[in-house]
Amino acid sequence: MKVAFCDRDGTLIKDYPDEDWRFIEEPEFFEDTVATLHELRKRDYEIIVISNQYLIGEGYITQEHYDMLAKKFLEYLTNANISILNVYYCPHRREEGCSCIKPNTGMAERALVEYPTIDMEKSFVVGNTSVDIELARNLGMKSFGLEVVSDYCQNTNIKRLNALLKYV
Ligand SMILES: [Mg+2]
Ligand SMILES: [Zn+2]
Repeated sequence: MKVAFCDRDGTLIKDYPDEDWRFIEEPEFFEDTVATLHELRKRDYEIIVISNQYLIGEGYITQEHYDMLAKKFLEYLTNANISILNVYYCPHRREEGCSCIKPNTGMAERALVEYPTIDMEKSFVVGNTSVDIELARNLGMKSFGLEVVSDYCQNTNIKRLNALLKYV
């Protein structure tokens, strides 16, 4: 199976300064998120979300707050008729040295164990920060950098999420 590994914050929904997240009650989707995910599903991509949530470990938000937002995130997409294969997140502190915080490959490796038929050659990572591109580089995968500049040879820089549809 081919997979679109999508960063969440700043890629599918709006991101905020770390200290503002505790005031956020609703995920705010970008205008082209639903249409883009829809089209990816139509083209037989499974959607896996991989998100660094050091906000939890570092105390910016509680686990309950994360769970509430994650539930609303999935409900919104379910209502839009988009099925998400899975969501992985890293709750650890940035200084913790865990193997899952992007650009480390722990979350993708878990996905590969859970879904052994993932074809990494046909899959890609999309994200709005350099850690997403570095993750792709560490996995030897294609990536799309959303308003992030990178010289990774397998990366394509895009300005809007829906721009990646031209390439996949
Ligand atoms: Mg992001
Ligand atoms: Zn982690």
